[in-house]
Amino acid sequence: MPSDDIKDIYRQLVRKLEERCRLGGVMGVMHWDQEVIMPHGGAESRAMQMAALAGVLHEKSVDPFLGDLISKLINSEPDEFTGVEWCNIREAKREFDLETKIPKELVQEIAELGSRGHQVWAKAREENRFEDFAPILERFIILKSKWAEHAFPEMEPYDANLDIYERGMTMDRLSPIFENLKNELIPLICSIKNSGMKPDDSFLEGDFPIDKQEALGNSISRDMGFNFDKGRMDVSVHPFCGGGHPTDVRITTRYRTENFIESLFAVIHETGHGLYEQGRMAACLDLPVSEPLTMAVHESQSLFWERMIAQGKSFSIRYLDKFKEVFPDFLKGVSADSLFRAINVCRPSFIRVEADELTYPVHIILRYEIEKSLFDGTLKVKDLPDAWNDKMEEYLGIRPSTDTLGALQDVHWSGGAFGYFPSYTLGAMYACQFYNKMIVDIKDIPERIEKGDLACIKTWLNENIHRQGRLYSPDQLAEKVTGQILEPDIFINYLKTKYNTIYGLN
Ligand code: ZN
Repeated sequence: MPSDDIKDIYRQLVRKLEERCRLGGVMGVMHWDQEVIMPHGGAESRAMQMAALAGVLHEKSVDPFLGDLISKLINSEPDEFTGVEWCNIREAKREFDLETKIPKELVQEIAELGSRGHQVWAKAREENRFEDFAPILERFIILKSKWAEHAFPEMEPYDANLDIYERGMTMDRLSPIFENLKNELIPLICSIKNSGMKPDDSFLEGDFPIDKQEALGNSISRDMGFNFDKGRMDVSVHPFCGGGHPTDVRITTRYRTENFIESLFAVIHETGHGLYEQGRMAACLDLPVSEPLTMAVHESQSLFWERMIAQGKSFSIRYLDKFKEVFPDFLKGVSADSLFRAINVCRPSFIRVEADELTYPVHIILRYEIEKSLFDGTLKVKDLPDAWNDKMEEYLGIRPSTDTLGALQDVHWSGGAFGYFPSYTLGAMYACQFYNKMIVDIKDIPERIEKGDLACIKTWLNENIHRQGRLYSPDQLAEKVTGQILEPDIFINYLKTKYNTIYGLN
């Protein structure tokens, strides 16, 4: 085909992709509105509006004309397009294939089960009745296995589910990574428990006015480089990062007057996600090439700021005086070192979202093992609560007294999101690996943080991660940035060094 013609076909594809992206942005704003300011009475009409828009988006995604454009482009000569253009073509093909390979009835049944599942789960969790949620879960395993057969017939069903969130990740690769992590972390958590050492974190509790917490969160988000001309911060039940576009990024947090650290760390975490969105390659904001790479890489950006920066000692040194200034009645006599220890306390607990840096991966591994065995049939749904509690006891030495504190705590399964959990811990591993490289590139990072220069960190992430969009696979990106693909030992060594020091072990 003459080159001019093929370029024109590409331009048509770009217009289609941009249109879909913009409609997706409308959905993003509607979702934010629903979570943040919509009156309760609007729930039913909003659900119908969003379903209608989802229908339009689906129709556009399966448009045969779009399929035509893609198949004309995909076999072009390699030098016909730039790397950016090829990425848009490949992404368009992946999306189109996924949308068209699944029978419509299956898509509908999964969507219906998801919305019903959420209601059933919320009630079952409140009433501690796992048996009410069990039939939903059983049906979901069947539907998501069927879905996998259509979407990725060459893969194991659970691998196909993993691939949605972390492309290229498989059980063959992930199981040994998690096994190793478990073998290293469980004895460390146990030694910490046996050390009898309990850093004082009682001074983090108090009475912290919400307006002051909000002002503090705002100013630290600004210090990190969040652009409030192209973003905003509000309150929702569960903190999230959403919005309609990289030029309109909405982050949220929630406040408790008794504790300011939780809300502040939610702000830092969501700002990390927000900076990824705001930092996307400027020339292609409405195209797939600029989109965040995977769930794990997105999470690596929030955890980079939350765990690697804000839970580091330099951050405590920098911000202790500010905290004392904002809350003059509290933190009297507290040193930067004791603040650092207080925000890094390791304490096994039942609830994943409240878990500390060291026990968090264990919560993830537990869920991964359970999901894997639900999909390969070695675990029956009815036996899930016992399996959960046994693992909790074996790994963290605590046994939930109810399923509300155990197998019913997470929202993910109620919507059929299997294979999502590993992203959290893979994200923590990427964050650690990226951080290790950043401190080689910028030698005086601790001193800079102590002086309040967080801008250099944002710039480093912008250049190395945010602007790379989807040009590379996660392994290629890790290799490009750090010189090696995902290397879990970096994460393990970091945790061991940090917590052995804090708890005076070895
Ligand atoms: Zn996150």
